[in-house]
Amino acid sequence: EIEVRGLHKSFGDNEVLRGIDLEIGQGEVVCVIGPSGSGKSTLLRCVNLLEEPSKGQVIVGGVELTDPDVDIDAARRRIGMVFQQFNLFPHLTVTENLTLPQRRVLGRGKAEAARVAAENLERVGLSEKATAYPSSLSGGQQQRVAIARALAMGPQAMLFDEPTSALDPELVGDVLAVMRMLANEGMTMMVVTHEMTFAREVADRVVFMDGGLVVEDGTPAQVIGAPRHERTRHFLSRLL
Ligand code: ATP
Ligand code: MG
Repeated sequence: EIEVRGLHKSFGDNEVLRGIDLEIGQGEVVCVIGPSGSGKSTLLRCVNLLEEPSKGQVIVGGVELTDPDVDIDAARRRIGMVFQQFNLFPHLTVTENLTLPQRRVLGRGKAEAARVAAENLERVGLSEKATAYPSSLSGGQQQRVAIARALAMGPQAMLFDEPTSALDPELVGDVLAVMRMLANEGMTMMVVTHEMTFAREVADRVVFMDGGLVVEDGTPAQVIGAPRHERTRHFLSRLL
């Protein structure tokens, strides 16, 4: 469960987030949409404290990450993040990409890390690529490895920042299918995406951001199907 209260973020005198309130319940999938520069990535990065909020609170699983006394590294470990760029280590095999963070960050032993890696590669349908290097995989396969790597850490919630935007169109479907599976399994997810079909079919809620504010927050049928604000309508009309 993720809760964002009165979140502000400025870079110098550029106020990028201007008071965001958002609640994502346990097992809920929320898609965040909005124009370029509206603050979607900054919001995601604030949720796992890759960026330090200027003001406001972020609470994940009952722990306030913005509390100065909280162990940030421990808290951050419980949130998986997947980026547009897959950020795999090119000199490591697929399995090694999955075991390294488990061993370094969670202190798991070799055998357990390998077992968890195998389990999660299977979940994303890539067991047969265990010993391959990232450069020999398609973009879609690399992104599925990146998702498996995040899952291997046993996260309470997953954040996705335009996970399919760097992919050739024919590779998008496999990645979305994995995300759909996670949603069906009850993973709490926050997904920045331009994939309106995915948002419509998978999201419990859609949040439209503009100018550092949440303009609209509702079911896909409300926000995509019957937007109440002119800015939302204008944004959607340019996408569809
Ligand atoms: P896009 O759809 O293009 O990814 P976005 O909605 O994700 O856009 P952000 O990346 O959150 O938007 O950026 C919002 C604003 O914050 C932009 O004006 C950007 O220039 C600024 N910004 C983001 N990160 C930084 C940073 N590290 N330093 C300074 N300014 C930043
Ligand atoms: Mg972005």
